[in-house]
Amino acid sequence: MTDTLPPCPECASTLTYQMDALLTCPECGHEWEQAAPSDAVHKVRDSVGNVLRDGDTVTVIKDLKVKGSSSVVKVGTKVRGIRLVEGDHDIDCKIPGIGQMGLKSEFVKKTAS
Ligand SMILES: [Zn+2]
Repeated sequence: MTDTLPPCPECASTLTYQMDALLTCPECGHEWEQAAPSDAVHKVRDSVGNVLRDGDTVTVIKDLKVKGSSSVVKVGTKVRGIRLVEGDHDIDCKIPGIGQMGLKSEFVKKTAS
């Protein structure tokens, strides 16, 4: 979430404020619809370009070393109920036998749960 609203497209005023789904400019009275939040946020895609969502099931496509341990997440490991987060490792998940860890979306592939 960000507090920064886009400037008014009519007069470029930065005093815009939000009223329900509409943005309103107090200077020229222009009202417009802001892009849906789902379009505004960074989309997380898997290794083949599928858009990932919270709760998806993914399969790991390569062996991944677990930072700070000797464990390896094996290729083909199925991970259920992923949670998307900000950052370098953009998937937060719980891996059977290993526990909570972060994965990079480029190393997973969305799969049917
Ligand atoms: Zn305006």
